[in-house]
Amino acid sequence: MLPPLIDTHCHLTNGRFDADRAEVIARARAAGIDRLLTIGTGIADGRAAKALADADPGLISASVGLDPFSCHEAGETFPAALAELGELLGAGGFRAVGEIGLEYHHPLNPHPVQIEQLEAQLDLARTLGLPAIIHVRDAHEDMLATLNRCAGVRGVIHSFIGDAATARRYLDLGWHLSFNGTATFKANGFLREAAAMVPADRILIETDSPYLAPLPLRGRRCEPAFVVHTLDLLAEVRGQRREDLAAWTTQNAVKLFGLPPLW
Ligand SMILES: [Zn+2]
Repeated sequence: MLPPLIDTHCHLTNGRFDADRAEVIARARAAGIDRLLTIGTGIADGRAAKALADADPGLISASVGLDPFSCHEAGETFPAALAELGELLGAGGFRAVGEIGLEYHHPLNPHPVQIEQLEAQLDLARTLGLPAIIHVRDAHEDMLATLNRCAGVRGVIHSFIGDAATARRYLDLGWHLSFNGTATFKANGFLREAAAMVPADRILIETDSPYLAPLPLRGRRCEPAFVVHTLDLLAEVRGQRREDLAAWTTQNAVKLFGLPPLW
């Protein structure tokens, strides 16, 4: 038996789960997952994430933030969206502000605008005393500089993609790092090296489902039950028993997100 296991980043509201969401959740339970953090990207999705959490509070928790895609879509209405986000978070029931971040791979808002919109939400996280869930793609230098400026906010770099030296810099700023199926992909040896050096009290695991299914299920729609494959791989590269890594990642998530203790 594994200790309690948590998938700290999934998108249960995604349309790809519309046909069989209840079965996906049931399979997660059957796979030994005791808590899911479902991530709201944008206001409407955040409300949907909270509705899922409210319907199954023993298993599901929710977060909400304006991710770079939502910020891009909001265009000139970003200030109104930010105000609405503040109201939504202020009303309670969310465990984190996120995901929020910088996305330089896709052509979204200009980089300085993305940074400003990220900072506004990090300020919100600090004000509300909530952790932040960070999305970062092709933007580590700007992200590190931004997080360095926004001291006092804690949280996790989700779906971390970077080498050990980059991981070290986030750790030095006090952030947690979360790994998913990308760590299992053959070409990503650099990521396994990074995962191997993260201290046990700073590592989280996630699926980012429906995206990024781990080996040996790569290419399929990902779902929270698949997190065990990432757990196995990470335990192997870290030279840790899977039971111990499960216990650490769960305890880390419980502390970071203020979840009810699971044992
Ligand atoms: Zn995500």
